[in-house]
Amino acid sequence: MKKAKSFILPPDGKVHPGKTVDIRYTVSENYLGDPIRIPITIINGKNPGPCAFLSAASHGDELNGIEIIRKIAHEWDPANLNGTIVCLPVLNVPAFLAQQRYVPTSSEDLNRSFPGNKTGKSIKRMAYSIFKSFIKPCDFGIDFHTSTRGRSNMLHVLADLSDEKVSHLAHSFGSNIIINGPGPSGSLRRSASEIGIPSITVELGEAHRFQLKLIEKALTGLESVFSAYSIRPTQSVHWPGWRAIISSKEDTWLRSSVGGIVSLRCNPGDLIEEGSVVCTITNPFKKEIDEVVSPFTGLIVGLLQNPIVRPGDPICHLVTLDRETISEYHASNKNNDLV
Ligand SMILES: [Zn+2]
Repeated sequence: MKKAKSFILPPDGKVHPGKTVDIRYTVSENYLGDPIRIPITIINGKNPGPCAFLSAASHGDELNGIEIIRKIAHEWDPANLNGTIVCLPVLNVPAFLAQQRYVPTSSEDLNRSFPGNKTGKSIKRMAYSIFKSFIKPCDFGIDFHTSTRGRSNMLHVLADLSDEKVSHLAHSFGSNIIINGPGPSGSLRRSASEIGIPSITVELGEAHRFQLKLIEKALTGLESVFSAYSIRPTQSVHWPGWRAIISSKEDTWLRSSVGGIVSLRCNPGDLIEEGSVVCTITNPFKKEIDEVVSPFTGLIVGLLQNPIVRPGDPICHLVTLDRETISEYHASNKNNDLV
């Protein structure tokens, strides 16, 4: 039988099989010349197996993934694992400290900067350091995000299903919705997948919050993935009751045609019938000025939370479901994805 290997920690450390190690790893320096260090936990299983990365907060105000990864990092016993889990709960420390999506002062987007560049601008160097030391040693990975501030998402997976290995990973997670597309250039999941490390993004909830029901749902997804890859074979692959695969080209965003104050009539995860009212928009004197109606029967994947809009602002991310999926949806009664 093959023996488990130590995980090599740069520059010259090791995490031996059967051990969990917490480190702070320098990826850059701030204006004072002090190190910018990201927290990392390596759980190296007692038995041999694949190496997986879990990452979050490459957008600094997207917090749900942090708690998901901390639960895995500090509650899972390496004695029961076949393989290694590289836990990266806060990738973008400057943005996290400022509680912003992007790096403060420069507005750089870490999740458009991978795989990075050793001699490039600051954010590219940071991305390079993370990618080289903690993504490249892995066999697959999952990057957690939430909606941007002022909106909320039901839990869903973003994956390039044209890549067989990525497709296997995406299906193993057990989510209701998979949005199929390669992802933006420079995103972690695309950059890793392009060099043969199949990776997906999991979107859940909204920025600035820990949403416990969603976090539990994501943990079920992770257990399913780790079972599928025999890292922690505790259960069979999770089937969520119904599933829809959506092309990223088929996404529909309903937008406001007026400015005003929004009263929502639905939640993320709701199935909304064609012609039903998604929201009403009123003026400051509470006079109704517009009604946003669903143009087709579809599932609400994302929805605004900040109840003020201007003409053109997005209100809801709506996707079509086929007839069979709609009846599975009704049968499984799983429309409460959000807290
Ligand atoms: Zn994000």
